[in-house]
Amino acid sequence: MKLDLHIHTTASDGQYTPSEIAAKAAQLGLSVFAITDHDTVAGIAEGRRAAEKLGIFMLSGIEISTFDKEEIHMLGYGIEETNARLLFWCRAFAAEREGRGRKMCDYLAGLGISVDWDEILEIAGEANISRPHFAAYLQRHGYVRERKEAFQKYLDTPEFHRATDRTLPTPEEAIDLIHQAGGRAVLAHPGLLKMSDENQERLIRRCREHGLDGLECYYGKHTKEQTSYYLGLAKELGLMVTAGSDFHGEKVKPDVKLGMER
Ligand code: AMP
Ligand code: FE
Ligand code: FE
Ligand code: ZN
Repeated sequence: MKLDLHIHTTASDGQYTPSEIAAKAAQLGLSVFAITDHDTVAGIAEGRRAAEKLGIFMLSGIEISTFDKEEIHMLGYGIEETNARLLFWCRAFAAEREGRGRKMCDYLAGLGISVDWDEILEIAGEANISRPHFAAYLQRHGYVRERKEAFQKYLDTPEFHRATDRTLPTPEEAIDLIHQAGGRAVLAHPGLLKMSDENQERLIRRCREHGLDGLECYYGKHTKEQTSYYLGLAKELGLMVTAGSDFHGEKVKPDVKLGMER
């Protein structure tokens, strides 16, 4: 079965519109795909309309940035994108991202890079402000050759994170938010967590006790060992297993392709 339950669009930091993603999913013969934009459901309605026209199945989704000692991403599937509380929180997430974007401008100014805020807004378009938009700006203005380099040099350093700290919900709050919007909560790419294996397992067990429904065991960047470790953990804890590529488009993440085979 070909599928992909982790895809970003222009509603957050992806390169392609929801309609373009639906078309690509159809072309690849995916049985199901999910749009999981960062902290927003703005792409869901368009994606569903396009998928219906093409006769393929789209699962509604979101990827919520949460924090507990480090950033932890929580996927929500089957959420009702018109849910009032969810929309309220998405507006708060957008405001938080805008405030952090301004801190990123100040931080870069301190390094002698002046960033034109209006140009950032233009690059972001309809989307929430996120780091890839700044990476695109830095590339456009010749500060870096590749967007990856923008993260290495400027957007993913300890100094950067200190200067642009965020106010994010806890994983438990995201689980509750997803549940009350009628969805299922899945811990995204556990293999990317920086914490020790011991702490990871503690986190996953704690989230499970709080109602976590699944684990993204199959993820493009997981090693075979990681995948089998998470599959074992999911089995033990009775968690659903999901698979996603985290496709953002070639310009944003050149090494990630759309679609998984399971
Ligand atoms: P944000 O949610 O604004 O913190 O941005 C996070 C997004 O930035 C991720 O979803 C990726 O798309 C991108 N990203 C994070 N780290 C890197 C990196 N080292 N290289 C390229 N893209 C990255
Ligand atoms: Fe992203
Ligand atoms: Fe993520
Ligand atoms: Zn993602």
